[in-house]
Amino acid sequence: MTERVQLSEVAPRDGLQSIGPFVPTETKIALVRACWEAGLRRMEVGSFVSPRAVPQMADTAEVLRAAKRLDGLECTVLVPNRRGFEAAVAAGADRLGLFMSVTESHNRANVNRRREESFADLAAIVRETPKGTRLRFNLSCVFHCPFEGVVPEEEALDWIERVVALDPDMEIALADTTGNAAPDQVRRLFERAHRAWGRRFAYHGHDTYGMGIANVTAAYEAGCRVFDAASGGIGGCPFAPGATGNVAMEDVVWLFHRMGVETGVDFARLLRAADLAAGIPGAVPGGAMRRVPAVRQAA
Ligand code: ZN
Repeated sequence: MTERVQLSEVAPRDGLQSIGPFVPTETKIALVRACWEAGLRRMEVGSFVSPRAVPQMADTAEVLRAAKRLDGLECTVLVPNRRGFEAAVAAGADRLGLFMSVTESHNRANVNRRREESFADLAAIVRETPKGTRLRFNLSCVFHCPFEGVVPEEEALDWIERVVALDPDMEIALADTTGNAAPDQVRRLFERAHRAWGRRFAYHGHDTYGMGIANVTAAYEAGCRVFDAASGGIGGCPFAPGATGNVAMEDVVWLFHRMGVETGVDFARLLRAADLAAGIPGAVPGGAMRRVPAVRQAA
C-alpha cells in the first residue's frame, strides 16, 4: 500500500507575516492560487491577529474570501485569542489554527501573555468552536526556544498532554519554531507522543540551521503524516530572533516523491508557486530544490 502524507502550505501566513513592505492583497491571492494549482489542498491563508501587532496580516479576511472560492481547498487561519476566534468564525474559515508556546518567554514575546493565560483562553475557544469548523492546536517552541534554549522533553510532553485532554480528535502540531530541533529529538518526541496519545500530531518546522528536511524525515519515520511547509522556503518569526524560513515545500515534496510517498502535488507546478513566493519583494527564500538544474529539467 502506498503511503500518503497531508501537506499544509503556510507561505501565505508564516512566509509573509514578517516581511517589512506590505505585500499587496492581489499578490497574496496569486500565491494562494499558485499553490492550489500545484495540488495543495490545505493552506494557512492568514492570521486574525491584531493588525497593529502584525500589519502584514491585516487583509486576511479578503485573502480568505478569495481562497474559499478554490475548489477543495481547506483554509486555515491562525487565531491567537478570543477576538481572532470570533473574526475567523465570522469569516467562515474551514479550520482554526490556535497557537501558544511551550516556553514562557517565547509566549510572552509572541502574544504578550503568560502561558497559563493563553491556555485558559484557547481551552475555552476549543469548547466553543462550532461543529463543522476543524481545529489545529499549534504548540510553538516544542523543541527549542530562542530565549530558553533546548526545551526539556518532559516539559514539552506536559503541555502536549494538557492540549490532548481538550479534545479527543483535534490535530496538534509540534512546531520547531526556531529551526534548531535535532532529528533524534524530533523522532523521540513524536514516538513518545504517538505511543501515549495516538497518531494525531503534525510537524511544523523551519530550516534556519539546515536541519529542516532531516527533521521532517525523522517525524515521518516516527509515524507523522501531516506536515507544514512553505513554497520557496520563505518565512521567519518576528518574535524568534534569527529564525529564517519554513522548510521549503518543494524540498518536502521532492523528499516524499523520492521515497515513494504520495503527496497529491504536481512538482512542476509547485516550482512555479515556489518561484512566485521567492520573488515577492522582501521575502527571504530558502530551500535547495529551486537551485538544482536537474530538478528544473525533470520538472
Ligand atoms: Zn513557523
